[in-house]
Amino acid sequence: MSPRLEAALALSLMQDAAPQREELPLHWHHLLNWREGTPVARAARNPISGLSTGFRAGGVYRTMAKQQAFTSTHKVLLGISVFLVLVASFWSTQSSSAKIPALPVDTLDTAPPAASTTTLPDTVAESRSDTLTQRHEVQPGDTLSSIFSRYGAPASDLNRIMETDVEYLALETLQPGTQLRLTFDDQDRFTELALVLDSARTVFYTRTDDDQFEYRRMEADTHWVSEVLRGSIEGSFYVSAVKAGLTAHQIASVNQLLEHRLNFRRDLRAGDQFAVIISHEMTTHQSTGKTRVEAVSLKRGNRTHTAFRFEDGNYYDQHGKSVLPAFRRWPTQTPYRVSSHFNPRRKHPVTGRISPHNGVDLATPIGTPIFSTGDGIVQRVGNHPFAGKYVDIDHGNAYKTRYLHLHRILVKRGQSIQRGDRIALSGNTGRSTGPHLHFELHVNSRPVNPLKADIPTAADIPSEYAKAFKEDASYKLAVMERAGSRSNLMLAGARVSFE
Ligand SMILES: [Zn+2]
Repeated sequence: MSPRLEAALALSLMQDAAPQREELPLHWHHLLNWREGTPVARAARNPISGLSTGFRAGGVYRTMAKQQAFTSTHKVLLGISVFLVLVASFWSTQSSSAKIPALPVDTLDTAPPAASTTTLPDTVAESRSDTLTQRHEVQPGDTLSSIFSRYGAPASDLNRIMETDVEYLALETLQPGTQLRLTFDDQDRFTELALVLDSARTVFYTRTDDDQFEYRRMEADTHWVSEVLRGSIEGSFYVSAVKAGLTAHQIASVNQLLEHRLNFRRDLRAGDQFAVIISHEMTTHQSTGKTRVEAVSLKRGNRTHTAFRFEDGNYYDQHGKSVLPAFRRWPTQTPYRVSSHFNPRRKHPVTGRISPHNGVDLATPIGTPIFSTGDGIVQRVGNHPFAGKYVDIDHGNAYKTRYLHLHRILVKRGQSIQRGDRIALSGNTGRSTGPHLHFELHVNSRPVNPLKADIPTAADIPSEYAKAFKEDASYKLAVMERAGSRSNLMLAGARVSFE
C-alpha cells in the first residue's frame, strides 16, 4: 500500500475512532445550556473541586486535579478540527438549531422532560466528604456484573438499573473504552451510575427514595463542522470512497441515499466522479464522533445524481424530491390490536412504577413476521434480560426503529435492508406479560408515537421551503465542486500536516 493511501486510511480510521471520552472543562454557559433542568442545584455541592465558585463567578471553571494530558491523539484531532474549520470557513457552518420548525411530530407524544433534579458532569474522580465516585473505563472482557462486583455495588442494584434501561437500552452500547462512573454515598451505599455516551452526552441512573433507579440523559450543545470529500471511481464505489476518506458507515449512508437512482455495482464506470459533504458533530472542544452526510453528488456520464440533507432531517434531490421511499406505518402485514399504547407517563404493568413506555405493544402471536418499516441499516441486534431479543434499525433520515421481545432475528448487524424486508419473527422473550411486539420509532433520537407521528411519505419538499432548499442545494453543489478537500490534498500528495 502506498504511504499516501496509508495516510488517507489512517486518517479515515481516526475519524471513525471512538470519541475522546474525557470531558474537558466546559464554559459555564454551556452548562446552562444542558437541556434538562438547571445545574444550580448541585453547583454548590462541589466544595472540593471548586466548581461552584467558578460557576458563580461566571467564568471558566477548571478541574483541580488530573487535567487531561494533551496527547498526540488530541493534537491530531485538534488539527483535524482546525482543518475542518478552514474548509468550513468559506461555507457557513451548519447550526444544530433548525431554522424551520422541527419535524412535525405529535407534540403530545414526545418523550417527557425527565426528572427535575440535575447533576453536573463530574469531571474528575472525586473523593469528597459525602460521596465517592469511581471511574471505570470498560475493558475487553468486562461485563456490567463484573464491574459492579469489582467496586462493591450490589448486583440487585444493577438488576434494577437494567429494568429501568429497558425503555432506553443505553447500556447496550457498552464497549471497550466506554467511560462509567459509579457513585457511593457516605454510608458506602451505591447511589448512581453514569454512562458517558460521547463527549456531549451522558446518561445517569440515580437511586430514588423507593430504591429504584431513575434515568436521565444530559446533552451539551453541539454544532456541526463540514468538510468536502471527493474522488473518482477506480474499482468499486466502496474502495473509491474509502480512498476519498469516507468511513464504512458514511459509505453505507451514501449507498442508501442513491440506491433508488442507480445500481452501484452495474452503473458506475472508471472515472465517474463523486463528492460528499460530511459534517462532524462538535462540542466546544471536541468531536463527539458522530458524523452525517450533508450532501452527495455522483456524476456518471452526463447524468448527475444528488441528495441533500435539509433542515427537517430528510434528504431530497436538487429538485426537492425525496430520495427515499415512504415508510410503512405498521411493522406487520396487517394491523394488530394495541395491547399497550405509547405513553411517556405509563404506570408499569409489572413494577407498578411510573415510567415511560417508549413504544407501542402490538398483540402479535409468537412467530408473526416483522417487517422493517423503512429502508435502513441494521444498527444493533441483541438479547437483553428484560427487552429480550431485539433489533435496532437506522433509517438514515433522522429515523430509527426498534423491535423488542422477538422470537427469532433474521438479520445481522450492519446489514442493509429495504422497506418491507422480513427482519424477525415476533415472540415473548425478555420480561413480557405475554406474546407481543414492542415497536418504537425515534425521530432525531427521541421516541415518538409510531402510530401517530408524521413519517416520511416520499413527498417533495414542502412548497414553503422550496426556495430556501434550492438555494441551499445549489450552494452545496458549488461547494462540492470547488471547495478544497482533505482527500484531494492527500491524494495529490500534498503534505497535510496536523501538528
Ligand atoms: Zn412495550
